[in-house]
Amino acid sequence: MQINRRHFLKLSGALAAAPLAGKKKTAQASKLPGPSADSYGCLVDTTLCVGCRKCEQACNERHHLPKPEESFEELTVLENERRMDETSYTVVNKYYPQQIGSLTWRNRPTFVKFQCMHCNDPSCVSACIVGALTKQPNGAVIYDPQKCIGCRYCMVACPFQVPAYEYYNALTPQVRKCTFCFNYIKDGGLPACAQVCPREVITFGKKSKLLRLARWKIKNNPGKYVDHIYGEHEVGGTSWMYLAAEPFERIGFPKLGTKAPPRLTEAIQHGLFQYFAAPIGLFVVLGGIMWATGYLKDSEKGPAEETEEKGGV
Ligand code: SF4
Ligand code: SF4
Ligand code: SF4
Repeated sequence: MQINRRHFLKLSGALAAAPLAGKKKTAQASKLPGPSADSYGCLVDTTLCVGCRKCEQACNERHHLPKPEESFEELTVLENERRMDETSYTVVNKYYPQQIGSLTWRNRPTFVKFQCMHCNDPSCVSACIVGALTKQPNGAVIYDPQKCIGCRYCMVACPFQVPAYEYYNALTPQVRKCTFCFNYIKDGGLPACAQVCPREVITFGKKSKLLRLARWKIKNNPGKYVDHIYGEHEVGGTSWMYLAAEPFERIGFPKLGTKAPPRLTEAIQHGLFQYFAAPIGLFVVLGGIMWATGYLKDSEKGPAEETEEKGGV
C-alpha cells in the first residue's frame, strides 16, 4: 500500500496522542453507566420468530444502507448462516433441529435475529483508544466516525464478532454496526426492527422489566423454553437478551463466561499505553520527521538519479 506523507503524519499525530487518549479513556471508563437495570434493552423471543426478514429490511431502510442483491422477500438466503457486515446491521439465521440419539429438540427450525448486543461493559469500548465507541446511559453502544482512526481493535475485541469495516471505502471508511436506533430511542421512539416485527418477537423496554417478563415466560410455559436468558449474565450482561427453546450454543450463540472481558484486559491495556505510548509516539514523530526530510530530499533529485541509486540503467 502506498503511504503518502500526509497519511504518515496523520498517523504519527494519532499515535503521539495515544497517551492522552489512554488517560481520557481511563477516566471515561470509570464514568460508564455499567449494567443499569434502568437502561433500555430488547428481549428477543426466538420461539416466535418465523424468519420473515422484515426486521432486516426495516433496519436497512432506516439507516439508508445499501440494498442487498436479492430482495428481502427472498427467504432462501436463510439456508446459509450469515453474519452482520458493513451493509447489514442485523441478520436472521435459520437453525434446523438437531437429532441427538433418538431425540430431536424441536420439530421446526429456529430463526434467530442477530445484531450488536449492546453489552453492559463493552469490549469494543474498552479496546478503542480514542473513545470513538461509547456506552450511553440509555444502553446503546454508539460510534463516532469523527474520532475513529481506523485501527479496528474494536473488531478484534468484540466477543460476538459484530463490528464491520468499510474496506471498500478508500477515503472515509467507517466501522459499522447496529446503533440500537439511538437517535430514535433517545426521543421516545422504537428500534426499527422492534417496530416492524409482525410476530412481536422483539420487546423493547427497561431491562428490569424485560428480565421480569423473561422469567415470567419461562415459569408459565413449562417445557417451552430452556431455563436460560442469554445476555442476562454473559460477558457481564448485555442490553439485548434472548429466550429460546433449545440450548443457545445450538442456535449460533457463543458460549461465553459471565465476566466482562474489559475487566480482564483493561488494566493490562491501559498499563501498556501508560508506559509505552509516550516513547512510541516520540519514536513515530521522530521517524516521521526523518522520513519526511528524506522524502523531500528524494523529491529534489531527478528521476535519472533515483533510477541509478536503485541499480537501474
Ligand atoms: S421481523 Fe420478527 S418474525 Fe420476522 S424475522 Fe425479524 S424477528 Fe423474526
Ligand atoms: S456486541 Fe460487540 S460491538 Fe456490540 S457492544 Fe458488545 S462488544 Fe461492542
Ligand atoms: S436496533 Fe435499529 S440498528 Fe439495531 S438492528 Fe434494530 S433496526 Fe437495526
